[in-house]
Amino acid sequence: MRLSDLKTGQSAVIIKILGHGAFRKRVMEMGFIKGRKITALLVAPLRDPVKYRLMNYEVSLRRAEANMIEVMPLAPAENTAVSRESSTPADAPVRTEVSTPSVAHSMTVEDDGIAPHHRKEFEGRSHTINVALIGNPNCGKTSLFNVASGAKEHVGNYSGVTVDSKTGTFVHGGYTFNIVDLPGTYSLSAYSPEERYVRTYLKDNNPDVIVNVVDASNLERNLYLTTELIDMDHAMVIALNMYDELRNSGTVLDYEALGNMIGVPVVPTVSRTGEGVKKLFDTIIEVYEGKNPVVRHVHVKLSQDLERALAAIKDALKRDKSINQHFCARYLGMRLLERDAEIEALVGESREAGEILAIRDRQLKELERLHPEEDVTSMIADNKYGFISGALAETMEQPQQESVTTTHIIDAFVTNRLFGFPIFLLVMTFIFWFTFYIGAYPADWIQEGVDALSALVDNHMPDGPLRDMLANGVIGGVGGVIVFLPNILILFFFISFMEDSGYMARAAFIMDRLMHKIGLHGKSFIPLVMGFGCNVPAVMASRAIESRSSKIITVLITPFISCSARLPVFVLLIGTFFSAHAALVFISMYLLGALVAMGTARLLRRFLFKVDETPFVMELPPYRVPTLKTSVRHMWWKAKQYLQKMGGIILFASIIVWALDYFPLDHKDNPDRYSYLETIGKAVHPVMEPLGISWRGTVAAVAGVPAKEIVVSTLGVLYTGSEEATDQALSQRLTTVNPETGVPDFTPASALAFMIFILLYCPCVATVVAIVKETGQWRYGAFTVLYNTLVAWVIAFGAYRLALLF
Ligand code: GDP
Ligand code: MG
Repeated sequence: MRLSDLKTGQSAVIIKILGHGAFRKRVMEMGFIKGRKITALLVAPLRDPVKYRLMNYEVSLRRAEANMIEVMPLAPAENTAVSRESSTPADAPVRTEVSTPSVAHSMTVEDDGIAPHHRKEFEGRSHTINVALIGNPNCGKTSLFNVASGAKEHVGNYSGVTVDSKTGTFVHGGYTFNIVDLPGTYSLSAYSPEERYVRTYLKDNNPDVIVNVVDASNLERNLYLTTELIDMDHAMVIALNMYDELRNSGTVLDYEALGNMIGVPVVPTVSRTGEGVKKLFDTIIEVYEGKNPVVRHVHVKLSQDLERALAAIKDALKRDKSINQHFCARYLGMRLLERDAEIEALVGESREAGEILAIRDRQLKELERLHPEEDVTSMIADNKYGFISGALAETMEQPQQESVTTTHIIDAFVTNRLFGFPIFLLVMTFIFWFTFYIGAYPADWIQEGVDALSALVDNHMPDGPLRDMLANGVIGGVGGVIVFLPNILILFFFISFMEDSGYMARAAFIMDRLMHKIGLHGKSFIPLVMGFGCNVPAVMASRAIESRSSKIITVLITPFISCSARLPVFVLLIGTFFSAHAALVFISMYLLGALVAMGTARLLRRFLFKVDETPFVMELPPYRVPTLKTSVRHMWWKAKQYLQKMGGIILFASIIVWALDYFPLDHKDNPDRYSYLETIGKAVHPVMEPLGISWRGTVAAVAGVPAKEIVVSTLGVLYTGSEEATDQALSQRLTTVNPETGVPDFTPASALAFMIFILLYCPCVATVVAIVKETGQWRYGAFTVLYNTLVAWVIAFGAYRLALLF
């Protein structure tokens, strides 16, 4: 039977993981291994994905992926028996071949004669300690980084928030600590970008001490990464984070005994409050100085056959000392057995490479002969989880009753088949209402402030280009953007709250089925929704998407989502030409944007990014009440990024547009001469003529490239000679007959084409910059500019011709 066939509430024992590559590896390191119990908890409202419970945490898998996992269902009677048993850490009722090794014999003290480097003498070493934080996603690394370094990094109850690394420096106990916050990983293989990043970091930077941050409420899975770090034989301290949650759950963990067993000091911490962090850094100093009594190199013992194979490869590796420079032989050997391509390449640089790989191949053959049913990767994962179960069996005592947690109660509603979507829509509606309706009040105050400032400059400065530049260019342009700040702050606050509380992961969970239809991940939904507010933060929010191709597609389709800066154009033109069907036309514009986004996503998935390299497997963290402080801090962090990105570009672009409109100096007095802006508009006009767009409309569209807010104000300047023209005055001008052509510049058909063009064409400069930054490649910025403009032209042309028929 396959896992996908499991009914809600039913439990089963995992027999085998089918498939290969990234998916297989990822689920195995997340604890999907033979003999482990798994329970189907609930199905997303659209029947896909499904939430499962495994060990002590919850995870969602798509059906297609669950179909790759072979399981044996547990009979109801057995089921209850197991569930009682499952509250002890060794919930492996049908562990067949690989029995849980007894902890006592599964560990041997390293005795290969080389003094472990973490026992180096303190004398003569510098007073700087380089520390790297390594741990699973969402275990609290960034929070720890923040309390330790006093930084204000972004934390979220949502995996994948940290993608690059952040460094901080602080002084403690007479040492300067350089601390780096690395992306969250489940293991140290090279399947996901995060894993590769962390491994490369360790190889290139060789930090003095690794702090392995583990989530105490989810120890079993978190310790998997720990076993890999132990394999690496690196100086290390474990921060047993979320210790408050462990305490509250009634679980008792003898962490000192655990530390002694695995030879790594364990310090309980609550990085949200800072509890235990001082002790953690004291311990790091002890380890660094070689004075910590717990430190000892332990082998995570594998089965005999594996150990034999490993020993042979290790011997071969020792022929060339230069190979072991970055990673120890045991670690390299294990990776070679797993055919890790990067490590093969690393070893490939050696003179002895041919010999080493030949030995490896021979050992793999032998293992295959001994275990025809199993592959090495799953054997190793099995053994490691066996080791962990053994260690926890001796040190951890969990309360007998599996309590109904708050998370379960909330999830029963929030991801319910009936209520899931209505609740989600309600939440979204509330957020948008609050953002745009309530946000309009402070926005108005800011607008008044900007106007007052502009008037002040106008009244008190001597006439001339400088005054005009300040009043119309700088204050007008930057002011137009600052006005959106309240909306953006409010939107960010809610987004932060959703991320920090854990609701965001549920939103991705219930939306996944729909998003999957356009080749994306449930996680892409949130950035797209944010796009209705402003495309820039939306592009930034795509950072949380693990899969690179999904992320790039999401980023590229975001500009089609109609942001609030396009709203004034719709308000003006719909009010003028379509007042009878205003609501319908409004909604159609938003829908058109969404449709083009979906179509583009499908095209990109079809032709540019054929495969989605990252599996959907997504952790659903328990709900945590975010502290006001973190949500506010998080909001600021995002707002700051927004302002920094926008500030410079908008200022620059506003001055350029102003200058193009202001010069040459004599155009204002001479009706036969045009400003540069008008000249450009006239030059581009032939391209826009087939859409029925006048040259003034063309100028407005060109002027809107720096920021779409500028479109309406430019129309104001061109048609009434005043930026502050009221909509009514402007409406009248738009419909009066143009003496040059004998017909009005705008007709309903051309107004429609104009709105569509503005909706879809090249995104504003700030968005393009955000796209380039987020994808790291110029070509994606260039693609957006060209593709979107082309699409806008084609659709606007079609709409115009069609509208002319009626
Ligand atoms: P990262 O993904 O490892 O960087 O994790 P974050 O630092 O972003 O934290 C993930 C979530 O766990 C956030 O909601 C934090 O507020 C929360 N958190 C972090 N440390 C603790 C802790 O010690 N106790 C509790 N209860 N929550 C924590
Ligand atoms: Mg983080």
